[in-house]
Amino acid sequence: MLQSPGPTPVPDEVLHAMARQPMDMGDPRLDDTIAACESGLRRLLHSDGAEVFFYATNGHGAWEAVVENLVPPGGAVLIPGTGHFSESWAVQTEALGRRVVRTPWLPGWAIDTAALAQALRDDAGQQIVAVFVVHTDTSSGITSDLRAIRSAMTATGHPALLVVDAVASLGCTPIDMDALPANVVLGASQKGLMTPPGVGFVAVDALAWQQAERNPAPRFYWDWRLRRSPLNYRKFCGTPPQNLLFGLEAAFGLIALEGEAALYARHRRLAGAVQAAVAGWAEAGALGFFARDPASRSVSVTTITVPEGVDIDALRAVARDRFGVAIAGGLGPLTGKAFRIGHLGDSNPATILGCLGALEAAMLVQGIAFGRDGLRRAVDHLAADDAAEGSGAAKS
Ligand SMILES: *Cc1c(COP(=O)(O)O)cnc(C)c1O
Repeated sequence: MLQSPGPTPVPDEVLHAMARQPMDMGDPRLDDTIAACESGLRRLLHSDGAEVFFYATNGHGAWEAVVENLVPPGGAVLIPGTGHFSESWAVQTEALGRRVVRTPWLPGWAIDTAALAQALRDDAGQQIVAVFVVHTDTSSGITSDLRAIRSAMTATGHPALLVVDAVASLGCTPIDMDALPANVVLGASQKGLMTPPGVGFVAVDALAWQQAERNPAPRFYWDWRLRRSPLNYRKFCGTPPQNLLFGLEAAFGLIALEGEAALYARHRRLAGAVQAAVAGWAEAGALGFFARDPASRSVSVTTITVPEGVDIDALRAVARDRFGVAIAGGLGPLTGKAFRIGHLGDSNPATILGCLGALEAAMLVQGIAFGRDGLRRAVDHLAADDAAEGSGAAKS
């Protein structure tokens, strides 16, 4: 069982949709699938006007697409520190010959909006083209507040665009692209969207589009202008990743069927169960939440710190090989200091309880000190939440 924050389990409906022959590129069914993916993405982002571009790539490719389309050679962006993913994006942006202004990462905390605003105010010449925000940093398990970030930006009067990395949050928590507004949102197929890795995408609003048109940076594969075409061969700059798109279409169908409100409520409920368990484990004083502010704890992934001396790789190996659940380790500065439970995409109460129970067994085997009340608290949380939503007796 996969309870990692990505890639995530793929529902049977998505697997079956992918299990077919590739098609002739002129087959109208392929155009229908691409159109369904485009409208599914716009619907999920609550955007009427955004142009959407899908790539045969992953999240890093979507990062690169944004840099190449928006930022002139030598131009600058602001990347507020969120942890491993903001830093990786910053390093990649610099490798592409752009300048990055960083605000410090505050370990355990969401984006510091005051520091973000100050960095924009300090940019008197308005050289910063865009603010690249990692919505949910998958390494820290922390989600930053996009509305607070947008208002902080607006209050400075700085014209920088807001670019949101929603790789780990899309399909898990609401993102209102037009209402915010976010000028670009990027994502990938393999996390909340429950599809195997291999498709990255961006949604681009009119302001970002204008910036892309002004930007003289040489580019081809990533170029939004070349991809704005009714021909699927041009949309993908070559052959579309057809079978992944069949899967993605099915995933958007599952999301529509469940309904956004239920989708987000399920993510909150499962995250609540994991958080209840971690609070129980923390009673023994050893394990704990990396995220300090409970309100910033992500509905997608929980990052759990361990005391020095705990061998996380060994814990993961025992959990996977003897108890059947794959969890993730710490990333970047949290390597060896934390492990992570993914609860995004195709998870349900049974997979979450199975994961928590298996993990308790693995921790016992490994001699890790943890409060024994974790699993029971998770059960209580799920039972109480179910009663509160009135879905218990009524549905059975
Ligand atoms: C996973 C992830 C990425 C990178 O995606 P890849 O598909 O592994 O390249 C980027 N940003 C966030 C927030 C992620 O969770």
